[in-house]
Amino acid sequence: MTVESVVQAGYLVAAVLFVLSLAGLAKQETARRGVVLGMSGMGLALAATVALALDRSERPVGVTAGLILLVLVVGAAVGTWRARTVEMTQMPELIALLHSFVGAAAVLVGFGSYLTTPAPADGAGTGSGATVHLVEVFLGVLIGAVTLTGSIVAFGKLSARLRSSPLLLPGRNWLNLAALVACGGLLWWFIVAGDAGLVPLLLMTVVALALGWHLVAAIGGGDMPVVVSMLNSYSGWAAAAAGFMLGNDLLIITGALVGSSGAILSYLMCRAMNRSFVSVILGGFGTGEGAAAPGAAVEHGSYRETTAPEVADRLATARSVVVVPGYGMAVAKAQYPVADLVARLTARGITVRFGIHPVAGRLPGHMNVLLAEARVPYDQVLSMDEINDEFPGTDVVLVIGANDTVNPAALDDPSSPIAGMPVLEVWQAREVIVFKRSMATGYAGVQNPLFFRENTAMLFGDAKEQVELIAKAL
Ligand code: NDP
Repeated sequence: MTVESVVQAGYLVAAVLFVLSLAGLAKQETARRGVVLGMSGMGLALAATVALALDRSERPVGVTAGLILLVLVVGAAVGTWRARTVEMTQMPELIALLHSFVGAAAVLVGFGSYLTTPAPADGAGTGSGATVHLVEVFLGVLIGAVTLTGSIVAFGKLSARLRSSPLLLPGRNWLNLAALVACGGLLWWFIVAGDAGLVPLLLMTVVALALGWHLVAAIGGGDMPVVVSMLNSYSGWAAAAAGFMLGNDLLIITGALVGSSGAILSYLMCRAMNRSFVSVILGGFGTGEGAAAPGAAVEHGSYRETTAPEVADRLATARSVVVVPGYGMAVAKAQYPVADLVARLTARGITVRFGIHPVAGRLPGHMNVLLAEARVPYDQVLSMDEINDEFPGTDVVLVIGANDTVNPAALDDPSSPIAGMPVLEVWQAREVIVFKRSMATGYAGVQNPLFFRENTAMLFGDAKEQVELIAKAL
């Protein structure tokens, strides 16, 4: 049995583990198992790759092993440090940054593969295999370069290092089209040039880097999470392209899994926000975030304020309560006191459930992760479709740091920027308490008529502090 065949078998097992991992991650109850399976698959893949590298090493094995160990230690140290220190609210920007690494890796693999296995110049010697390899190199570098700069711009916008408003150059869609046409021409030049094609490859890399930067710069901060998910998909295809170049089946399978799951996720997010995929890619939406809407009170009438002890009184006499969390709960880190409050209410015989909107927060599953962290039982956590029919029979809804996802304008105002987005119909309950710090708008930058309804009361202040005050008053 050769090292090669053992490594191939290891790759196969790792690929199966990755598929099982994705299946596990699909449900909260099995997510932990999914993560463990994914880690095991990645551990196995790494071990197999290192074994293969040592087997094929042209230098003394000790030198190769030392070099690999060095990069492993540096990578693992940086990765562990970042994963331990990152805040849940910073997760999208960290993911964006990690995608840029995948893009950079694909570009480097592309150049490395081209320079070490040069194809013969066009003419007698060019076989179709050589042409296929050249196309793989070209596409791998193209996708990788777009992913690299696109992810860096997404990281900059999400972390407020770059302005989040869209960059609207005149004729921007034509510029993108021109870049793609130029890449098509450079591909032809590259194939014809064979092993003298470094110039078209370098030129295409420059065009692709500019294209990635411009594509994402034109998209507003509001759509950035969808963009991150799209870049996730691109990074998968870049990895798959690298797999083709290196003849590595595991990389092809993993890249395809990442590429397609990122694409499916982007589609689901667009659908939950009622945005079309094309309108997100073409950019121009989302010119800012959380701006106070001037004159909103004049347009919508007056609102009613309440206090934590009053809310505690209302809860004490309620029979059924629904908690609707949103981005503000994540910002306030209120999930622990919220879980505590819910446990107290449940202990008094009150039916309490959570209603989760598919895009509540800033990344898919954001609320589910926070609630799982605070050990809220899974059977208390319902999705939007499950909870929407329950609101008419609910006494009190606690909207904790959610705004756009409970905005009735999405259903009744066709001119609203979020018109058509499915929302949690909390206003159908007997009473709604909204926890937020001010009358400022949410992510989409639109005012929320819910706050001005008769059965709504506003509880101003930091969500965590207010929930703790309510628990104390109870
Ligand atoms: P929103 O962003 O609409 O609103 C959050 C609210 O929380 C704000 O109105 C803010 O009001 C309040 N808030 C912030 N900090 C605190 C705090 N410390 N204490 C109390 N309240 C606070 O949140 P939603 O979750 O309702 O909606 C998510 C939005 O993000 C949607 O527009 C969605 O389309 C978008 N989005 C989500 C994605 C996802 O995958 N989940 C992806 C892309 C976009 P105030 O400042 O007054 O306190």
